[in-house]
Amino acid sequence: MKKSFKFICIYCTISLVLLSTILPLIFNTNAAFSAQHSPLKDKTILIDPGHGGIDGGTSSGNILEKNINLEASLILKTELLRRGSKVIMTRDKDVSLENLCKDNDYRHRRDLKARVNIINNNNIDAYISIHVNAVNNAPYVKGPMVFYSNTNINSKTLASYVQDSLNAIAGTNRNPNVADYFLLTNAKKTGILVELGFITNNDDKNLLVNKDYLKKLSEGIAVGLEKYFESK
Ligand SMILES: [Zn+2]
Repeated sequence: MKKSFKFICIYCTISLVLLSTILPLIFNTNAAFSAQHSPLKDKTILIDPGHGGIDGGTSSGNILEKNINLEASLILKTELLRRGSKVIMTRDKDVSLENLCKDNDYRHRRDLKARVNIINNNNIDAYISIHVNAVNNAPYVKGPMVFYSNTNINSKTLASYVQDSLNAIAGTNRNPNVADYFLLTNAKKTGILVELGFITNNDDKNLLVNKDYLKKLSEGIAVGLEKYFESK
């Protein structure tokens, strides 16, 4: 009895050692392994948290878009760093950027120009501008939306991968949208603007102040970026 017990133990030990070595490789559960093999490794991604400082963006009660944008962007930064990317941020605290642009223009336009300059003056592989949506008289409209400009040939492809990835998280079925936004039209790099959800929808509003949901959306954006770089 003793002998056979010992035999089983040795057999089990060997099996467990083999399983613990091989399983993370098969299922890609080991963080270091996944970072080493992510298509995002060594890519430089610029994250632009919309608004900030004097400019709160859209709001609902005391919930301000600028704070959701920054929180989601910092979580996205962590996700991208974990996958081996380099990350540049247009802002990493509660500030607006108009002071970085000396043009004779109004405040909001100077803020946007400053963001465009940071995108155009850095050697980046892609940029992601993060925002929160709002719509009047349609409280049932919800879910993430991805916007792109046709001024960059690759932006539509990136937008499609990220929108698909976010659809899977939010249970929506959207296509990405072309938009004539100042930032998208004037930035000369591949990039997209992501509206994380609608602050005018109660379900979305509750989700957007939940860090776990922002982490899910950030992972979704990272997966979309990975699929885009994989396709190239
Ligand atoms: Zn916004």
